[in-house]
Amino acid sequence: MGNLPNDHFVERCVLTSPSRPLPLLSQEALPFWEGCLKDQLLLQHCCDCGAINWLPKSFCARCSSDRLTWKEASGDGVLESFSIVYRPMNEAWASQVPYILALVWLKEGIRMVTRLEMEKGRIPTIDGPVRVYFVDIGDGFKAPFWRPQ
Ligand SMILES: [Zn+2]
Repeated sequence: MGNLPNDHFVERCVLTSPSRPLPLLSQEALPFWEGCLKDQLLLQHCCDCGAINWLPKSFCARCSSDRLTWKEASGDGVLESFSIVYRPMNEAWASQVPYILALVWLKEGIRMVTRLEMEKGRIPTIDGPVRVYFVDIGDGFKAPFWRPQ
């Protein structure tokens, strides 16, 4: 019995080990990723209290309602913070270093951990306006990246 979890873990690793990490396709997050394929940044809203769930959930984090809907975000935000990555967390991104991980505060009032793209040699501006765009990350996915406006 004690070996069962390890066997399961190994099997899952073999079956789900792509060349790089891919988004987790939970039922709650599926509309978000489908929106990305259409260059739409969709956010999950509560139909009862209006709160935005980020990350998507099966219920509202504020009022626990399960009446949720999806609305397209403005695509505008401000850069709160960033870090330039020289040593990637995964070998799959080794060819992309240096790249910028950023905290973006969306106009809608949520914070997103994301990628920021800058022209070579330029420095990101804290509190500067940024706008979303969508990048093909392979294997049928597009992801929201941000760049200065
Ligand atoms: Zn709610």
